[in-house]
Amino acid sequence: MAEKLFIGGKWVKSKSGKTFTSINPATGGTIGTFQSGNSKDVGLAVRAARKAYKKWRLTPAPGRGEILFEAARLLKKNKKRLGKCVTDEMGKQISEGLGDVQEAIDVFEYMAAEGRRFFGHTTTSESPDKFAMTVRVPLGVCGLITPWNFPIAIPAWKLAPCLIAGNAAVFKPASDTPGCALELVKILSEAGVPDGVVNLVTGSGRNVGAPIVRHKGIDAISFTGSREVGEFVAANAGLKKVGLELGGKNPIIVMGDADLDLAVDGIIWGAFGTTGQRCTAASRVIVHKAVEKPLLARLLRATGKLTIGYGMKADVGPLVNQAAVEKTKAYVEIGKKEGKLFCGGNALEGNFFEPTIFTKVKPSARIAQEEIFGPVLAIITVKSLGEAITVANSTSYGLSAAIYTRDVNSAFTAIRDLEAGITYINAPTIGAEVHLPFGGVKATGNGTREAGILGLEEFSEVKTAYVDYSGKLQKAQIDE
Ligand code: NAD
Repeated sequence: MAEKLFIGGKWVKSKSGKTFTSINPATGGTIGTFQSGNSKDVGLAVRAARKAYKKWRLTPAPGRGEILFEAARLLKKNKKRLGKCVTDEMGKQISEGLGDVQEAIDVFEYMAAEGRRFFGHTTTSESPDKFAMTVRVPLGVCGLITPWNFPIAIPAWKLAPCLIAGNAAVFKPASDTPGCALELVKILSEAGVPDGVVNLVTGSGRNVGAPIVRHKGIDAISFTGSREVGEFVAANAGLKKVGLELGGKNPIIVMGDADLDLAVDGIIWGAFGTTGQRCTAASRVIVHKAVEKPLLARLLRATGKLTIGYGMKADVGPLVNQAAVEKTKAYVEIGKKEGKLFCGGNALEGNFFEPTIFTKVKPSARIAQEEIFGPVLAIITVKSLGEAITVANSTSYGLSAAIYTRDVNSAFTAIRDLEAGITYINAPTIGAEVHLPFGGVKATGNGTREAGILGLEEFSEVKTAYVDYSGKLQKAQIDE
């Protein structure tokens, strides 16, 4: 039996009368059948959200927080089961599947507590007997559009701040991971989120995503996904407030004084964790010539130890679908012309792909510039820190960057000069924590930050309030 859409607190069929299936990318088994939503469903979801918003925005924020705390508790209770859902539906290794759920728990707890802070500021007034302050107010109805690679964590990163700020949501998950989205929405409903505050419409980008982006009844869009679709969102959302979290081409710099074993652990985790399918995946290593040889020897050994297979058993799971395999294959062919294939390079049966490393790659090569979103790493050799930073900055993206060095001067120079929203010292490009802001510069987004205290800004607006208790008309800027 097909799963349903969740609109106005009811599980309903799509007006399209059509469904689609979600497939386990490791085994080829069917995860479930889901509704192929359309613009009529989006319209109904917006109507339900607008209605529910009227009451929800007036629910005191600590009360909204209570519900989010309960959602965190239910996620914890179901962590094992949900972690396996993540592994089964998108393929990542089970410890990462559990990590996906943990990130959701963390962000619900963090944002729930924000319900008791939700700070504005107070300040002085230029007039006597007058009080001035700012308060945060919700935006209204937010359209949340998410990718498949963190199928529980990314929706949670959006839903938690969206809800604590008092907004209602129309949520469209990626078509590769509708099952995980359904699980999360069920938990929110069980936790006590009122009917209509969170509405789920599954379906394609064209039939559900685009109508959400264009809908006049939606006040804001929070989008995480590819640069191409991000550009579509920016061009079609009109005057809505838009948050865009897009791709990356994240570098790890390894300096001559680095702890090479530590660097190799970080590179393997950064490049091949989640089979390279993280927006923060390390897809470039920029190594100082002095340590190129020993680093490569260690990388070869470490890569050779990785097991590939179903994420419940192996280190490296499958790519998400056959299209991702074809894309990775095509980039490997491009890479063979641009650099030297050092290891891997083969698609295996099913959706699996060998962890692949290219050496002797030029900074301008396509495999060093374009997001592949697979287990493909380009190694670029440099002669100085200055050159390493120039190379690191030579792509259009700017999400995450890392440097391995024991020199404090190099570390702080990197923090200052790397064009990235996030910089790690002696740690890989992945590892974001929910109480710190997350996001990128340049083509990685439009400047919004998710998570942390700044994550609330995306989902709220500042209102300035003046309270004049003088009992007379006081004119600002006018000489009396
Ligand atoms: P995608 O852009 O193909 O899809 C993202 C979402 O947009 C999906 O729900 C999809 O159905 C929807 N969509 C597609 N066309 C649309 C349209 N015309 N209008 C509205 N919505 C539409 O991305 P993906 O393949 O799901 O995810 C991988 C991408 O996401 C990578 O580029 C990765 O770097 C990026 N990503 C970024 C971050 C970040 O925080 N910066 C995090 C994770 C993933």
